[in-house]
Amino acid sequence: MSMDVTFLGTGAAYPSPMRGASATVIRFEGECWLFDCGEGTQTQFMKSNLKAGKITKIFITHLHGDHFFGLPGLLCTISLQCSPDGNKLPVDIYGPLGIKDFLQRTMALSRSQLVFPYVVHELVPTPNQCPEEEWDDVFSGKRDEDSCPEPQGDIICLNPADDSYLLVDGGQVVIKAFRLFHRIPSFGFLVEEKPRTGKLNAQKLKELGIPPGPLYGKLKEGVPITLENGTTISPTDVLDSPCPGRKICILGDCSGVVGDGVTSLCSDADILIHEATLDDSQMDKAKERGHSTPKMAAEFAKLCKARKLVLFHFSQRYKPANQIGEGDADVTELKKQAEIVLNGQEVVLSEDFMTISIPVKKPK
Ligand SMILES: [Zn+2]
Ligand SMILES: [Zn+2]
Repeated sequence: MSMDVTFLGTGAAYPSPMRGASATVIRFEGECWLFDCGEGTQTQFMKSNLKAGKITKIFITHLHGDHFFGLPGLLCTISLQCSPDGNKLPVDIYGPLGIKDFLQRTMALSRSQLVFPYVVHELVPTPNQCPEEEWDDVFSGKRDEDSCPEPQGDIICLNPADDSYLLVDGGQVVIKAFRLFHRIPSFGFLVEEKPRTGKLNAQKLKELGIPPGPLYGKLKEGVPITLENGTTISPTDVLDSPCPGRKICILGDCSGVVGDGVTSLCSDADILIHEATLDDSQMDKAKERGHSTPKMAAEFAKLCKARKLVLFHFSQRYKPANQIGEGDADVTELKKQAEIVLNGQEVVLSEDFMTISIPVKKPK
């Protein structure tokens, strides 16, 4: 049940030899989910120990180039490297309205044909996610008539009840998106593991005289059983406490969240991954560009009671800590600025190819 996060690109605006453009991978039960796909993401995959061919879902936070210009190239390379298989499940791509049009046109213009199917699910932003003058028809789903085939996929609208967009609810996880404020509409993603049923307690099974066999399976599935002597046993009588699920939040570029429900969606996150493009001394400039500083990221982490704050999307002026030369901006300042807000709780500065594991939780 291993779950981990790997950073493939921690830089803002463009890829550099020190920091790739935005790309983060969550691995869970053999699947790879990619969050953003900046230019050069495919070569970052090749330099890492991850396999791009294992990607089953891709999530794009917003339509600035440093977050999705790598997508067509990555898809084409995966296609070149895999053999046609009629049974292969489609790769699910989620992103703001406009992403489908982009992929459709790019694939058609370059005569690219993938050997696997893909579907594009588009999120419908709301006008309060960006400055009024930046709002565009694209964000409302108005597109030109076009002759190239349109990929399949859903249009997903905001659920005002909890300020989220439900993307995936299957197997062991739920994945939702939520709104962020940026120069253009941006989204954050919440990956939440469902609680795991507790283990059958051997001692209690014995005490209640439940014979081994199919009855164990029913109890484990949460179904009450009746013994030959007429006693009814409820699963809670014999199961240990359930294991709480793990929770990861990845936020796209933003100078804040949109919607009152977002804090509770992200509450108690095991890992909150937040951008910190510039340091606190440049907060006005950061906000003007729709970005955050360490203080802003940490204040949100504090509000959510996040267990670990990880910063990413650093301006390319901040080289990784072990490559700082004379006169370079010091990225460790950003860590200190965030830690002040969190009363010394350790904050992690992400770097390309860093992996963070999230261990299975103990039953409460
Ligand atoms: Zn960006
Ligand atoms: Zn951006």
